[in-house]
Amino acid sequence: MNSNTICSNIETIRERIAEACTRTGRDPESVELIAISKTRPVEEILQARECNQLHFGENRIPELQEKMEQIPDEEIVWHFVGAMQTNKIRQLAGRVDWIHSIWKRKYLDELEKRLEGSGRKVNVLIQVNISNEPQKHGCRPEEVRELVEHALPMKNIRVRGLMGMATFTEDEGKIREEFRLLRETFDKISDLNGGAVKLEHLSMGMTNDLEIAVEEGSTMVRVGTALFGERRY
Ligand SMILES: *Cc1c(COP(=O)(O)O)cnc(C)c1O
Repeated sequence: MNSNTICSNIETIRERIAEACTRTGRDPESVELIAISKTRPVEEILQARECNQLHFGENRIPELQEKMEQIPDEEIVWHFVGAMQTNKIRQLAGRVDWIHSIWKRKYLDELEKRLEGSGRKVNVLIQVNISNEPQKHGCRPEEVRELVEHALPMKNIRVRGLMGMATFTEDEGKIREEFRLLRETFDKISDLNGGAVKLEHLSMGMTNDLEIAVEEGSTMVRVGTALFGERRY
């Protein structure tokens, strides 16, 4: 995809976000666009970067690690949004800024251990299974409080909010209901702010449902297809 297309796609997505914000009286600046660059070549990330895109997300740890090494741009903010693998957390700990997919105690424990002495702090979102599909990752809404409390004394991890993925469906009502569940789960733990916990982010919304997510309070939309085109594999 050429860089003009990527730039105009970014502009279109920002307009979609802005319109959803206008409808609900929100400030468009309160929603961060995370460009999901999984399967896309480094050159396309650099093209998006040229159009002032700063936040990038990947869903495979080796691919993220490779891209972080190949792009030594300190201003890029890297997000990991894919399935956690305990044995690969060490690779993540070096450079990543945000991890959206922590949903078990053992992931928190391993990440804290790997970050020890590195001088780095990582922002973490707790992934919640809002679609209630057994094959989807994420903890149950009732488990969120206990996980956030578990992270409270940790020195290198900062829990910043929640992440969720809605069911892949045309049924907008169902999608909205699921995003609303994430928002309500978030509101219930808002008393936990302080220490390593500063709850202010809701990562929800992708190419097909970002307007609904923004209307329901998303502060981070994770967009791949609308930005880079259909994935190759
Ligand atoms: C791939 C992916 C996205 C982006 O999906 P699109 O529909 O291409 O915008 C967002 N979040 C996660 C966790 C993903 O794996």
